[in-house]
Amino acid sequence: MADLTAALQFLQRLIQTPSLPGQEEAMAALVLAEMRTLGYDEAWMDEAGNVIGLIRGRGEVPALMFNTHLDHVDPGDPATWPAYGQPYSGAVHEGKVWGRGASDIKGPLAAQVHGVARLLQAGERPPGDVYVSAVVQEEVGGLGARLLAQTLKDTVAYVVIGEPSSNELRRGHRGRTELVVHVVGRAVHASAPERGVNPLFVLANFLQRLPSLEMALHDELGYSSVAPTLIRTDQSSANVIPGEAWLTLDWRNIPGESNEDAQNKVHPLLTDSLIEGAIGEILLAATDRVSFTGYERAMQSDNPAYSLGADHPAVRAAEQVLAEGLGREIPTKLWRFATDGGHFARVGMTVIGFGPGDERVVHTVNEHIDLDEWTEALHANAILAQRWLAFK
Ligand SMILES: [Zn+2]
Repeated sequence: MADLTAALQFLQRLIQTPSLPGQEEAMAALVLAEMRTLGYDEAWMDEAGNVIGLIRGRGEVPALMFNTHLDHVDPGDPATWPAYGQPYSGAVHEGKVWGRGASDIKGPLAAQVHGVARLLQAGERPPGDVYVSAVVQEEVGGLGARLLAQTLKDTVAYVVIGEPSSNELRRGHRGRTELVVHVVGRAVHASAPERGVNPLFVLANFLQRLPSLEMALHDELGYSSVAPTLIRTDQSSANVIPGEAWLTLDWRNIPGESNEDAQNKVHPLLTDSLIEGAIGEILLAATDRVSFTGYERAMQSDNPAYSLGADHPAVRAAEQVLAEGLGREIPTKLWRFATDGGHFARVGMTVIGFGPGDERVVHTVNEHIDLDEWTEALHANAILAQRWLAFK
């Protein structure tokens, strides 16, 4: 079991290497070096700092990509973590590996990098090319995944997202997008409001109409939803009627409902809410992110929804090969949280989820991963790499 020891040591080194979003450099170097040590045919870092390894296949089926991310959320005060499982310890305690990222996402990452490499160790070639990727900034909007999706959209057809699923299959999740209602009126001294056009009254009208909006319905994920969250104006003085106002809407979309669908749905409400002299528009919110390599991009503040049906051939095939290979039933569900999977689905890739780790401990001070479950995931990833797309 030399390979299992090496895999566990790799996981522990990953946990011991902090990699907050924007600070993944050391982590990326570790993953890249490990792929080279394991004998991947190619391994490289792209301009955003994403790490990609390739194991060449026999060319009989389309290319498959395993994907996780390099970053993790802030562990907060170490004093709030258990003494036996400090955030950057990677300590083994009672059959579990502890620390920030154990489940999200360093445990699944190590299980992908080492699991797929078992083919090389066994002297086997997968039926098609297999990529293993770990991207930057998943936790803050997907800067890395957006670039990788563009780079590989004509190369990779299928994706396994390694986010924790307790070694069950996942086939989709709701998405999120941010809209901004922007209203322009006319600023004047607050002592003479009749001379101005106050954009806040437009937002007041708009907010009263918002709950009447008819939302889209998905048979499994329920209704999409919209919540007003932030309001700001162009003013910092309390005695001036503002000239402009912005209202942020947090929109949770269902698969098939695009950013533009949401934008178009809200637009008539704004038109009906305008007062004389005011104009308005619905914007898609964007944020600017920079990676540790200096790669910079303004990104839409969104995380696309996606889903495959329960009887989709790719889902059925994954269930079959995993059930045969692991000798047990494989439940398939939808994720409660969003992943980078939506970015890959948006460019046409077929995306499933499979990873070790318990979603209930993710982003908590009790983050850990069960060693037996993680060991099974190494095996499962090798099975998916070898048999998923060859299944008939
Ligand atoms: Zn994650």
